Amino acid sequence: MTDTYTVINLSNLKHNAKALTEKYSAYGTHIGIVKGDAYGHGYESVNALYEGGIRYFAVSSLEEAEELRKFNRTVPLLCLQPVAFSRIDDAAELNLTLAIPDLEYLKTFLKSPVKHSFPLHLQIDSGFNRLGFKDKKEVKKAAELINKSAHTLEGVYQHYATAGVFDPYYDAQTARFKELTSLLDLSKIPLVHLGSGIAMMAHPKEEIATAIRMGLVMYGYNIAPESYGGGMKNKLRAARDKHFQKKYNLSETIRDVEIDLRPAISVKTRIIQLKDVKAGEHIGYSASYEAEENIRIAVLPVGYNNGIGHQNTGRVVEINGKLCPVVGSVGMNMMCVKVDKDVSYDDEVTLLGGEITLGMFSRFSGLGLAEVMLGVGKNNRRYYVND
Ligand SMILES: *Cc1c(COP(=O)(O)O)cnc(C)c1O
Repeated sequence: MTDTYTVINLSNLKHNAKALTEKYSAYGTHIGIVKGDAYGHGYESVNALYEGGIRYFAVSSLEEAEELRKFNRTVPLLCLQPVAFSRIDDAAELNLTLAIPDLEYLKTFLKSPVKHSFPLHLQIDSGFNRLGFKDKKEVKKAAELINKSAHTLEGVYQHYATAGVFDPYYDAQTARFKELTSLLDLSKIPLVHLGSGIAMMAHPKEEIATAIRMGLVMYGYNIAPESYGGGMKNKLRAARDKHFQKKYNLSETIRDVEIDLRPAISVKTRIIQLKDVKAGEHIGYSASYEAEENIRIAVLPVGYNNGIGHQNTGRVVEINGKLCPVVGSVGMNMMCVKVDKDVSYDDEVTLLGGEITLGMFSRFSGLGLAEVMLGVGKNNRRYYVND
């Protein structure tokens, strides 16, 4: 074991995949998003997700696809970003599904001398203004060109820029997607996928959707919005939302989704020194912390090099089931926490997992949820366990 390490619980990943594919079986195909090294879980995770029922995956790039293929040679795999023309042969070798972002790209791609029949997905830009088609005649033209080629038009999709909880932009994107694909016969295209995890959990399924992509939820986080609690203030909030929803004719938001999702990633470290600090002494860079009383601290061999961010306000770690606050600055490879007298060198330190949720970690590091997972997953040695 290294001093600091990430544990990936494969049973939990399998459990999540099963729970999600069963609950959302109305989508015939569930595309597991495993970009960013499977959100920091590593491509070894793919087979656990597969066993749980995810039968299609998507990565961002050819490089990620190469890593995934070391663990699974055959599962259908969509590459979300356009593959460089000079590497179409590698894409064929890796047996990829390709995303087509515009007509220009398609025309050049179709001239490729590589002899391989690719499944293709047309990417629609319904308001993200990143990748994708913005003109319905071009969408139609693309479909015609593909149908005349050696390749198959397997899918058409878009990505939402917003979560759609009381925001008209979400509904506008759905409408725009329908408009941009209105010259296609969607019933002839096997995979129509509009959204990601939040679309799946917080919104009713769009009739045209036959597939869904999911990232964060698969790794064990219920991202569905929660209902407001009791009390007058919350009643007023709920009433305001209802009014807003009616006024702008917004689509329904599903709250409080009941599903047992289990986080699979946790991060542990060990204590490298225990030390007594007297009242009035300072700890860390800039002497930023002054002990108000005599305290005992544990020095931990972790810092922003381990993907934890250098922000430390409110940060705690768990030792023996107790939350211990960080004292002083977080350095590149070390930080200190205040501990009880009974803490010993053998005690395991949990940085993420157990009492410390991803949400907490995200708040005290100032990083987004996926960003936390990526950081701790990439920067620490990873160990896989089955329960
Ligand atoms: C990252 C990504 C997703 C997954 O999003 P989550 O919010 O993690 O579910 C889905 N679709 C595309 C195109 C993505 O880039």
